[in-house]
Parts: sequence; structure tokens; C-alpha cells
Amino acid sequence: MIDGHTQLVGVIGWPVEHSLSPIMHNAAFDVFGLNWRYVPLPVRPGEVEQAVKGLAALGFRGANVTVPHKQAVLPVLTSISADARRLGAVNTLVFERDGDGGIRVVGHNTDVDGFIGALREAGFDPYGTRAVIVGAGGAARAVVAGLAAAGCAHLVVLGRDVTRARTLVTDIKAHYPASLYAQANELTPEKLIEEARTAALLVNATPVGMWPYTEDSIWPENVPLPSHLTVFDLVYNPLETRLLAQARRAGAHAVDGLGMLVRQGALAFQLWTQDEHREVEELIEVMRAACKRALMGRPD
Ligand code: NAP
Repeated sequence: MIDGHTQLVGVIGWPVEHSLSPIMHNAAFDVFGLNWRYVPLPVRPGEVEQAVKGLAALGFRGANVTVPHKQAVLPVLTSISADARRLGAVNTLVFERDGDGGIRVVGHNTDVDGFIGALREAGFDPYGTRAVIVGAGGAARAVVAGLAAAGCAHLVVLGRDVTRARTLVTDIKAHYPASLYAQANELTPEKLIEEARTAALLVNATPVGMWPYTEDSIWPENVPLPSHLTVFDLVYNPLETRLLAQARRAGAHAVDGLGMLVRQGALAFQLWTQDEHREVEELIEVMRAACKRALMGRPD
């Protein structure tokens, strides 16, 4: 029931109608008996500043920020967490009232810990390893920053736009120890095969393979994937992407994107509700179950 005490949060994006975030957050509010609701908030490119100020003035407690606003929202912030500053991208906003009645807009990025938490949950410790990341967008930034912070020794970013990949690597290297080896290259099948041969981890941080283009994969079909690899696909719709099916067929370790989705969501939930007593693992399981039910019930 929505009443005068209901606390509101939501997700700002364009488009947002396919987001699983309302489903997983509302499921958690219901299970834990919190009088909170989470709503999808379609915000056109160029209108994010008005939208954030409007939400804060309307008494929203916070919001998630997704494509294409993760960088565009930066000028509206009053302050920013260390992770979000290093990445230059924000996926969670918290609205705080200060003593004078003013509103502070605090930016966080829970994708970084969401990714690393999911990777560790899958049994992979990135410390001292070599990783290949395909993609150079917002999610790739979070992946690269997380791997660098977790002590990954050797990072290669492959992007179809090599300039974007190089900028990502330059930005991340500026914040991490000189001992980190990080390099960017153009994404080609040959380069991917060559880099994967010596890497321990391959991450797909592109939408390739996502519904409705489920036949697509970043990995060429006629080349066996190295069996020693852990393959992490950030795509979660479908859960079993073509890339993950190729990995399993080759005997490699396949990890889907749902673990990251629910972990970044649980961390945002905790930032808004400031509920330090609730076990994050319990929250994650409620969110994971809600997402799985939703993914099984719809094609898109
Ligand atoms: P983004 O900022 O739009 O970046 C997408 C990246 O993928 C860009 O580098 C883009 O290349 C590249 N790309 C797109 N289509 C490609 C293709 N056909 N071949 C090669 N590269 C291609 O998006 P994002 O936020 O980083 O998200 C990327 C994916 O991760 C999406 O599927 C999203 O759903 C998923 N994701 C999952 C989670 C999770 O919790 N599991 C969290 C965040 C994102 P250009 O630079 O050339 O455009």
C-alpha cells in the first residue's frame, strides 16, 4: 500500500522500461516489510539535471542512474564517492537533507563492488591475474576499476572504438599503482583469440548476445574457447548467453551477469535505507529470486 509515509526511490534512464531494478527492489521492500517503493523514471538525454533536482525536491530518497546518464549526472552532484570519482561515472544517487533544509546529492558507483563481489562469489580471485575486457563503455569502466583495485596484474581492454578503449585505460591507470599493466587495443577476432590464450579471465562488457540478438557472441563460433578461462558475461538477459554456452562447451568456467546486477542493487538498497543490521547476502538472495522469476516469465 502507498500512503503518506511511503519513501520513494527509482531509476533514471532512457529507456528504462526493461529494467529489472523495480522488480528486485520492490521484492526486497516487501520481504523486509519496508514502506518504500521503487519506480522506473524515463528521463530523456539532456534533461537529467532537471530530473535529479525535481526528484530531490519531491522528497525521493535516492535513485539509480543508468544509460545514458551515468556521466551526464556528474555536474548535479554535491559530493561523490571515491569509486565514482575514479571511474567518472555514477550509478546511485542518495539525497540528503542538511541542517539548513538544503538538499545534498551524493553520487556513488556500486557497479565496481557489484562486479568484484560476483566474481569472487564465482570462485575467481583476480589478484595477480591477467584479464581481457571486451567493451569500453560505462560497465567496462567499472570492471576495469574493480580489477585494478583487486590487484589484477595485467589488463587488456579491447574496444571496437579503440580511442574510447585507450581513454578508459589512461583514466584508470592515473588512479592505480604503476605496477599495473594496462593496455588498449582494437577489438578483432584475431586479437581476442591471442589475448585470451594467456589470460585467466575474459569479461564481456558489451551488449553483444543480449535479447533479442541472442545468437550473437564476441567469440568466433568456429574457434574453441580456451578451457582454462573464467568467462564473465555482464549480459543477464538471457542468463545463458551464446558466449557462456561456448565457454561451457569448451570446459571453461562460465559466470552470468545476474550476480553483479543483484550485488550492485543490494549495495544501493543499503545506501538508501542505511539498514546496517540487514545481512547483505540475505538481501541478495531475495533480489536474485525476484530477477530469476521475472527473467523466466518474459522473453525481453
Ligand atoms: P555502454 O556504455 O553503452 O557501452 C557499451 C560498450 O559495448 C561500448 O564500448 C560499445 O562500443 C560496445 N559495443 C556495443 N555493441 C557492440 C558490438 N556489436 N560489438 C562490439 N562492441 C560493442 O553500455 P554499458 O553500460 O557499458 O553496458 C554494457 C553491457 O553490460 C550491457 O549489456 C548492460 O546491460 C550490461 N551491464 C550489466 C550489468 C550487470 O549488473 N550485470 C551492469 C551494467 C551493465 P562503442 O564504444 O564503439 O559504442
